[in-house]
Amino acid sequence: MENVENVIVTKNLTKVYQMGVVRVHALKEINLTVQRGEFVAIMGASGSGKSTLMNMLGCLDQPTSGDYFLDGKNVNSLDKNEYAEIRNQKIGFVFQGFNLLARTTALENVELPLMYDRYNRIKEPHKAAKSALERVGLTDRMNHLPNQLSGGQQQRVAIARALVTQPSILMADEPTGNLDSLNSIEIFSLFQALNQEGITIVMVTHERDFADYATRIVEMRDGHIRRDWIIQNRRNAQADLVQYKANGSETEEIYEQN
Ligand code: ADP
Ligand code: MG
Repeated sequence: MENVENVIVTKNLTKVYQMGVVRVHALKEINLTVQRGEFVAIMGASGSGKSTLMNMLGCLDQPTSGDYFLDGKNVNSLDKNEYAEIRNQKIGFVFQGFNLLARTTALENVELPLMYDRYNRIKEPHKAAKSALERVGLTDRMNHLPNQLSGGQQQRVAIARALVTQPSILMADEPTGNLDSLNSIEIFSLFQALNQEGITIVMVTHERDFADYATRIVEMRDGHIRRDWIIQNRRNAQADLVQYKANGSETEEIYEQN
């Protein structure tokens, strides 16, 4: 039995994609441990395997070989239903492209994952969805359709949808990849608050400045972990937000001063 405080443990996690005669080694024997309460930023060049790793960790896809222990349980040994169940129970996943249903209100989008909640862990779906939207600051936008919301608001709906099942881990693959600086910092401010409340976070980000909102950076290269370190001078998104709003759009200035 693995130590339960290690929420994520991978042992030689490997993923090979077969494309006709070409084999792409997207992940090469990744050994990664994430403890409960950490906020990990995964960085690395395009094609280095970040999304592949997130998909394995988020139980969206199975590795070719190696093991993945989630909360001490080897998820690769589970059958299809158990696998889906553990994902629904423990993980909230946020995508770069929001992935909201178009002709569906914010509230209905957030309620959606609860329809798959086979054990009815959440007793009052409507209420739970409302409070998730309140948590992300969208109390007055619940009945809006996605196209009536800004990009930042749409991503917050997607975060509410990820939170509505009360996961212990939030995973996000370039959650601010489609957002401008102000909206990005707002999302990181929300992530820092959620992390403060005890949710473990693993996210991919392209930008070093944004990675500094995390507590730890894992840098990937060619399917390997190249570097893995704890952030010494962690940035505070709430403070950056205040400064950003005071300075207008001078983000470069904010990052230089810190
Ligand atoms: P990143 O997110 O860091 O940009 P990815 O994990 O998306 O990297 O990709 C890692 C490698 O695996 C790349 O060479 C990419 O082309 C390849 N790859 C990713 N997904 C697939 C797939 N579904 N089929 C084949 N190759 C893939
Ligand atoms: Mg990617």
